[in-house]
Amino acid sequence: MDSDPAVRAPVVGVLALQGGFAAHAKMLRGLGAEVREVRTPADLDGLDGLVLPGGESTTMTLGIEREGLAEPLRVFAGAGRPIFGTCAGLIMLDRDHLGLMDIVAERNAFGRQLHSFEEDLEFPGIDGGPVRAVFIRAPWIAEHGPEVEVLAEVDGHPVAARQGALFVISFHPELGDDHRLHERFLAHVRAAMDGTPA
Ligand code: GLN
Repeated sequence: MDSDPAVRAPVVGVLALQGGFAAHAKMLRGLGAEVREVRTPADLDGLDGLVLPGGESTTMTLGIEREGLAEPLRVFAGAGRPIFGTCAGLIMLDRDHLGLMDIVAERNAFGRQLHSFEEDLEFPGIDGGPVRAVFIRAPWIAEHGPEVEVLAEVDGHPVAARQGALFVISFHPELGDDHRLHERFLAHVRAAMDGTPA
């Protein structure tokens, strides 16, 4: 049966207003997802999940306002559809931006002199050794509520977390060839399609 969620490929959107959307799209396609670039509210129709890429959160916020995407994104998340926010995408989901996740992001948190660095991070539930995380003017999670599960930290600051179907990391998983975080997100997406929690 074509419409059986167990057999159809997940349809995943990548917010494509600004930032590193192309590399996410390529990685998701390589993992068997059908990918759609999202620029308008209509582009959200029928998506099984959504990636908010890294970039520049002020520019992204202006684009979301210009396109009238804030409320449709809230409806999308409210329907339980998984969202994966990376770097600026993490910032977009916090209390001060779209307000979808009970976190406060601190922008450029690692300091001016430390614009970019890499770190090996162990993730619960991810096999095969640590993930090599690339941080670029990255935020960290300065505050979070009790429903937020912290998945990884750098120097005691949360840099990866989950709250229900929302999954955020403050680095760039689309750079390099380690697919495991996108695979994990797609597992959440498939589980939401099936109606079973991941
Ligand atoms: N520093 C950027 C911001 O605050 C985020 C950086 C990134 O997404 N790589 O918007």
